Amino acid sequence: MDRLRAKIRDIPNFPKPGIVFKDLTPVIADGRLLGAAVAGLIAPFKTAGVTAVAGMEARGFIFGSLAAYALGVGFIPLRKPGKLPHLTHQVAYALEYGSAALEIHVDALTASDTVLLVDDLIATGGTAAASCELVRKSGASIAGCAFVIELDFLKGRQVLAEVPVHSLIHYAS
Ligand code: AMP
Repeated sequence: MDRLRAKIRDIPNFPKPGIVFKDLTPVIADGRLLGAAVAGLIAPFKTAGVTAVAGMEARGFIFGSLAAYALGVGFIPLRKPGKLPHLTHQVAYALEYGSAALEIHVDALTASDTVLLVDDLIATGGTAAASCELVRKSGASIAGCAFVIELDFLKGRQVLAEVPVHSLIHYAS
């Protein structure tokens, strides 16, 4: 985990002033670290009866589909509006400035599915909370949410309430 943390690159004032962007591309480019990150993400959920992994556009697609492969289950993309070609459920959520929305295909999951949500990073938790709502709209259950990075000071896990939250690297400030 120390090597993983050392490879995360801080980009100040991206994408806007005041935000320190946690750039995971150096981790993704390193095969051993990428493998270690994926193994860490799925570790608590190996015996949780997960039947599908859902990942948020776009960096959640990278870690989520690898986690799905490692668990031997399928991957469900949660996409920005207008990207999925079939009928969708949609959930809108607030951002620091403005709002955003995510969609899921209406037939992507069923009530017999147990889903692990995966994204690169949890900040305020708005994206993850909207993703949980989308999964629930599909009738499926949630095993938990897994993130490579958690920005503890933004208290994102509080908005996820009773959902188990697992993060590999924590930043206190
Ligand atoms: P939030 O909804 O506030 O928890 O934000 C989480 C989403 O925004 C994730 O999909 C992240 O990829 C992205 N994000 C938020 N803050 C950062 C940050 N400081 N560095 C990199 N990505 C971020």
